Amino acid sequence: MSDTRHTKVLIIGSGPAGYTAGVYASRAMLEPVLIQGMEPGGQLTTTTEVENWPGDTEVQGPDLMVRMEAHAKAMGCDIVNDLVTSLDLSKRPFTAQTDSGTVYTADAVILCTGARAKWLGLDTEEKFKGFGVSACATCDGFFYRGMEIVVVGGGNTAVEEALFLTNFASKVTLVHRRDELRAEKILINRLEKNPKIETLWFNEVQEVYGTDSPLGVEGVKVKHTKTGEITDIPAKGVFIAIGHAPASELVKDQLELHSGGYVSVEAGSTRTAIPGVFAAGDLTDHTYRQAVTSAGMGCMAALDAEKFIAEQE
Ligand code: NAP
Repeated sequence: MSDTRHTKVLIIGSGPAGYTAGVYASRAMLEPVLIQGMEPGGQLTTTTEVENWPGDTEVQGPDLMVRMEAHAKAMGCDIVNDLVTSLDLSKRPFTAQTDSGTVYTADAVILCTGARAKWLGLDTEEKFKGFGVSACATCDGFFYRGMEIVVVGGGNTAVEEALFLTNFASKVTLVHRRDELRAEKILINRLEKNPKIETLWFNEVQEVYGTDSPLGVEGVKVKHTKTGEITDIPAKGVFIAIGHAPASELVKDQLELHSGGYVSVEAGSTRTAIPGVFAAGDLTDHTYRQAVTSAGMGCMAALDAEKFIAEQE
């Protein structure tokens, strides 16, 4: 028989939004339960140096998330290492089924499931995932010591990953489909000064190729977006850094979504169209997507939930 637990506030997700909601909801004496999901700590656990978290000139992403978890726990948040597999928002109390079999019922739900890495969608990318193709330089960069690496993308993530990978690689080729990066200027300056990085403008990856036994990458074929010219770039590692998509599968048929999957909230709040359901962080934010803005929204969601529960009582 499945175990059922009731909580006033159920927080789903464990990035900056989730843990901050945990801190605030705990301090409001709401005794929240936070379900961490597949990747406790979220996207920041796959980055290295974070230089824009106020109060820390430099902090390692995984360390920051360990501290946030400890902070929420210290305030009284019940942090559960489990995965919500389905969520019923059609009636109150809301019901969440989890991977462990425990069923949670909740008066209010704060959705903080964040976003995850996007892929190019090539068959050959899929074939070599985990065997030379990766979306996480922090996790896998170490395997490519002294080797050539390709990074795909033109945003902050791509530039940060390219810079980080120069710690291991003999050469990093950044492949971007335009001739302008959307990364912050400070990162672009570092990229331009790094002698190990070459940037290939106006190019898109057509194919990842390699060996079958053992399975491993040998390079990529890229196509010039204007001339159609195909160039072969030898590489043992290919890091895809082309952005993220919101993790809204749990609620996609129950809540209004915008911009390709982000949960819609009322302007200036975290309220969704369902009273008692709140959304915070990258799951709802298509524009800013920063740790600090996510944390801010986590705070807002806990305050919105507190108000909602007080009104019900
Ligand atoms: P992003 O800013 O959305 O950039 C994605 C990049 O990938 C863009 O350059 C885009 O090209 C390219 N791209 C997208 N789809 C592609 C495709 N199918 N083929 C080839 N290229 C493709 O994503 P992000 O870099 O992951 O950053 C996400 C958010 O997190 C941003 O708000 C960013 O500022 C933030 N972030 C911040 C930090 C930091 O502050 N330290 C670190 C990492 C991320 P186009 O430019 O042509 O569109």
